[in-house]
Amino acid sequence: MKQFLFRAGSDSELNEGMNRLKEYLSANKVSSTVFHLYCGLTDKELIMKQVKTLEENFPAAPIAGVASNGEIMDSKIIPQDLLVSAIVFESSKVDIYTYGNAGARTDEIGEAIKNAADKTHDLCAIELLFPGSVMKSMGILDRVSECAPNVSIFGGYPIGHDMDNDEPFVVTTKSADRDTVIAIMYSGKDLHVNADKTAGWEKLGNSFTITAADGHTLYDVDNIPALEVYEKYLKITQAGNFTRDTVEFPLLIVDNNEEILRHAATYAEDGSIYLSGNVKVGEKLYLTYGNPSGIFEQVNKRCAAIREFEPEVIFLYSCAARKAFWGDVMASREIAPFGEFGSAAGFFTGGELIRMSDRGTVFEHNITMLTICMREGEKKGLALPDAKIDDSMLVGQAYLLKRLAQLVQSTNEELQQKNEQLLKMAITDELTQLYNRREIEKRINAALDNEADSKNGVGLIMVDVDHFKKVNDILGHDVGDKVLRKVADILKAAVDPAKGEAVGRWGGEEFFMLLPDMSLEDTAALAENTRKAIEENRFENVRRLTASFGVIHSSSDSDRKNLYIKVDEALYQAKARGRNCVITADN
Ligand code: GH3
Ligand code: MG
Ligand code: MG
Repeated sequence: MKQFLFRAGSDSELNEGMNRLKEYLSANKVSSTVFHLYCGLTDKELIMKQVKTLEENFPAAPIAGVASNGEIMDSKIIPQDLLVSAIVFESSKVDIYTYGNAGARTDEIGEAIKNAADKTHDLCAIELLFPGSVMKSMGILDRVSECAPNVSIFGGYPIGHDMDNDEPFVVTTKSADRDTVIAIMYSGKDLHVNADKTAGWEKLGNSFTITAADGHTLYDVDNIPALEVYEKYLKITQAGNFTRDTVEFPLLIVDNNEEILRHAATYAEDGSIYLSGNVKVGEKLYLTYGNPSGIFEQVNKRCAAIREFEPEVIFLYSCAARKAFWGDVMASREIAPFGEFGSAAGFFTGGELIRMSDRGTVFEHNITMLTICMREGEKKGLALPDAKIDDSMLVGQAYLLKRLAQLVQSTNEELQQKNEQLLKMAITDELTQLYNRREIEKRINAALDNEADSKNGVGLIMVDVDHFKKVNDILGHDVGDKVLRKVADILKAAVDPAKGEAVGRWGGEEFFMLLPDMSLEDTAALAENTRKAIEENRFENVRRLTASFGVIHSSSDSDRKNLYIKVDEALYQAKARGRNCVITADN
């Protein structure tokens, strides 16, 4: 396969390009040709005139076009123009399906595309081009996702040259309008397709959970209006230039383990945010920031995979917001390496569609770059260059951004570590490293609240070391501390945290053991075993050490306060009966 790229803003450019193509077609074996038009020009009359000329000259070749926020030719961004890509196949086949008046019937269109796909022999890939930002795109994507899993699905949403004044349209041989869906089917026994996405934005701070959303509209996260997230953390306020300000800090949602970036496009007075794509209640959401080094890393990773694939043609469909983030110079540098592997062309999109090879669902992404590679026939073992980008290519603000991103990242990591330490300290008893009283009490109460969920009810054991004061008095406080630590270890070894079982220090030389799913008999048996373990343990410097045990079960009393009183009484009885024994309440 081979790609011909030419500009077609003027008749002479178009003719020159067509002549080159004709020459090739007459001299080579060709099975199919497909035209893509990437339209940075907004003059639809001119665009349709050029389409007619192409159609007259190549009547058998499908034609599909999109409004573009920037055209990519030979892996370079060209100034606002009309770019034609003609891909010529040797053995594969290309079929185009177009659906007009799409607005209200996207489900039916999705169904029709799926049916067409099912009928296509040796289908390898489906390309979707439609104005997703003005349509119920899920109607289409949900149905198309049901196509056979080995079929690559990719595509892009058109977007006007002025992002703030969006005029998306798609181009067919019939019209240039915002109400048409195009599906292109690529099939063939020798056709190989490798599609992937590159993002590289990194999570900033903690996650939120989406608590209210509808389609593209994000109402609440963690039950607060979504706009407050941008106000609180980034001082991006309603009065500012919201659309631009949020480009650097898109949201990342996690749907079915797939990470998807969303640009916050506009906001409403009620504090909701209109996103560049769909979101669902329950999904996790993060603020993210573009870290140039992290983004480059992703690009380089993708480059390595493409080099391995040996493509003949690369579709580069990258988000317009990504270009806005980088600025034109850096946006060009980011895509440059891909041009070293094969003919690379495409456009800056209003949304990127891709089904990752191992999954069924076609997701709508933003701020993401798609690289779709195609090749006919087996790999030839070409020695392709090891194309890469590195930080030396960063210029101006991007360079500063890299440093700031680094600062954010390391500060964030430090904070997170500190936070974890603090959280642990808040629930831990310093001497024994068991849960402290507040935490074990919280856990006991939670277990009692959820008693209905447990098969066997909740067992509780209260433990008190016998004659501990003597250890202190005779051997000193330090030895006493050591004994307490050892007793704590023995108690801890007796429970299984995986089952929610826990031990806490109640105070001094008193402990509580929580068994959230254990019968009275088993709890009493566990207390007895633990008693023996303490009795049999050889404590350093202490000749003999024992403890007394009180046992209670949640079935004994429905009142929580009474449970605590009863277990305390049981322990008191154990002391009264000579210590070093287990007493079960109510017995
Ligand atoms: P009984 O068998 O009746 O429980 O007698 P006991 O001596 O164990 O009970 P008592 O309540 O009279 O004494 C508990 C002692 O535990 C008193 C206190 O000094 C000591 N203690 C409390 N906390 C600590 C601690 O953190 N370290 C040390 N070494 N001793 C502690
Ligand atoms: Mg005591
Ligand atoms: Mg004691």
